[in-house]
Amino acid sequence: MRSLSIFGATGSIGEQTVDLLLRAGGAKTHRIVALTGGRNIARLADMARDLRAEIAVCADPSGLADLRERLAGSGVEAAAGTSAIIEAAERPADWVMSAIVGAAGLEPGFRALRHGATLALANKESLVTAGPLLLAEAERHKARILPVDSEHSAIFQALVGEDIAAVERIILTASGGALRDWPLEALARATVKEALAHPNWAMGQRITIDSASMFNKALEVIETREFFGVDPDQIEVIIHPESLIHSMVGYRDGAIMAHMGAPDMRHSIGYALNWPDRSYLPVARLDLAQVGQMTFRAPDLARYPALRLARSVMARRGLAGAAFNAAKEVALDHFLAGGIGFMQMAGLVEETLATLDGELGHENDAMTLEDVQAVDHLARIRANERADAIARRQAGER
Ligand code: NAD
Ligand code: MG
Repeated sequence: MRSLSIFGATGSIGEQTVDLLLRAGGAKTHRIVALTGGRNIARLADMARDLRAEIAVCADPSGLADLRERLAGSGVEAAAGTSAIIEAAERPADWVMSAIVGAAGLEPGFRALRHGATLALANKESLVTAGPLLLAEAERHKARILPVDSEHSAIFQALVGEDIAAVERIILTASGGALRDWPLEALARATVKEALAHPNWAMGQRITIDSASMFNKALEVIETREFFGVDPDQIEVIIHPESLIHSMVGYRDGAIMAHMGAPDMRHSIGYALNWPDRSYLPVARLDLAQVGQMTFRAPDLARYPALRLARSVMARRGLAGAAFNAAKEVALDHFLAGGIGFMQMAGLVEETLATLDGELGHENDAMTLEDVQAVDHLARIRANERADAIARRQAGER
């Protein structure tokens, strides 16, 4: 029986993974090792019971007593805290879903590779912050990483049976997010609620705002560069508001292979779950006559400065990705808390990267988990300082 763990089981990707697993027979057909969640203890306990997991871990230590109580008599072990999540990742499992949001998702996935697990990687931050480290670890332990981000799953599928050397370009599609049709001048005043109104995809809060700012696409460009090993100038981004083409690979003979489907993450979660097979998935079938037309347009870099920042991060490589992601997470926290405006996020990230300029080192691919975590920590301090400076300046102006 195949054994599985899900990190971030109570999130948007986690819930959809659990949904597919239950449809595939749940505990009758799979041995569930670990399920982890954040603060939603009731949901974590319910799914751990449904799937008869060996252990359920919540990130929030203050939730442990509640989790224990809810799991009493079920035979499911309960644990809490970041170190318990990492210990859970050290329990061998054949297939591991990495769906914690943010830099916190890196270490559990990294640990899972050590016992040769197939790592279904939704946590794009892992490749952005530590791509070379993760890929080297996978190779060392003969573990496999399968992409779950819809664009990367699409590219992965469009590459089946092809030689990567025949690839001319990779075209990432982007919905453009909630604010794509707003006038540029209005973006500075966009609220959290407005940025959360995503036209096509139902996702977690953080990635939805990152879609509106295209920080999500910026992370995905870097993720593409790391995962597929192509040059940055081979990666293009195009706005495709309907989100029916999930991404494309252009080959040297001019052919383009596109992956199409309804905007439903269970396409890519299910592909990773069933890989290398292609099994039935309960996703809507596209009726192209009904769809009628699909549209495309080039992204405007004035609206989406994050895309420009991604290029400079790729030019630097090494630990620049860890700094970029950490600064972006801090900027998002401040936007969510009302401290900075929507368009100030990119400026905050850019200034943070500039303050770290001399400290990141260049070229190197040789990095350790400790290096990545140290840069992440430093970038957060610098980004918070910058955010405080912006807040003081704005208070002075008022
Ligand atoms: P989410 O916010 O819905 O869920 C995140 C999960 O991680 C939850 O279980 C939460 O409790 C847990 N978590 C949050 N902070 C944690 C911490 N510090 N330590 C441990 N656990 C923590 O997020 P999501 O939308 O499911 O996204 C998960 C990951 O997948 C992200 O990296 C995101 O970029 C990526 N992704 C998501 C989608 C999507 O459609 N939602 C698509 C592509 C990629
Ligand atoms: Mg994506």
